[in-house]
Amino acid sequence: MDLILFGPAGAGKGTQAKFLVERFALPQVSTGDMMRAERASGSELGHKFDEYMSKGLLVPDELVFELLEKGLDAAGSKGVIFDGFPRTVPQAKVLDEVLAKRGRKMDHVVSMEVPLSDIVDRITGRRTCQGCGQVYHVRYNPPPADGKCASCGGSELIQRKDDTEEVVTRRFEEYKAKTEPVLGYYQAKGLATSIEGVGDLDEVYKRIKAAIGQ
Ligand code: AMP
Repeated sequence: MDLILFGPAGAGKGTQAKFLVERFALPQVSTGDMMRAERASGSELGHKFDEYMSKGLLVPDELVFELLEKGLDAAGSKGVIFDGFPRTVPQAKVLDEVLAKRGRKMDHVVSMEVPLSDIVDRITGRRTCQGCGQVYHVRYNPPPADGKCASCGGSELIQRKDDTEEVVTRRFEEYKAKTEPVLGYYQAKGLATSIEGVGDLDEVYKRIKAAIGQ
């Protein structure tokens, strides 16, 4: 199964992707996580990513494509939970081509709808594991008292540097202008289902499973 969790930053894609990874034993491909790993490695590509990421701008498609095949190769052939990718219509088209080359096609696109008023609150309270990418929230999904990740057993939790109010606003503008049209692309193919991304984590998870017929 190939599945896209779609929605703006703060919709809960990363959190729900982790649940789906566990339930369906599928790998997650998050271009954001891959870019942060590249940045942490200090590579030239990582520096280029950072120029855009730190400002809340989308990384240009050509640079994103450099990661895509690498991510899919590492993910194996059973399918993927895509989180934060594709973010532009050209990315969606290339993904279709790359999947077709591998004898696959996109199965489901689940769009997580969350009002803007909730997004800033969610993102600014977010804490992310540097080791495994697990996401916590200081109030809604509090991290363990020792400040270490419970999921991977002890990596440091940090506030991402693009999780500030100013950068979040820019990211949302980018989403509206360049990413939202991707939903239309998949709606035209009859693949997209919208669910409410607000409420209890378990409730949202159940909505996602229902949207994909599970
Ligand atoms: P995320 O972790 O998915 O919220 O992504 C963090 C940042 O990485 C975004 O604000 C973009 O700057 C960049 N980014 C991640 N994935 C993509 C993508 N598919 N296309 C363009 N930029 C991306």
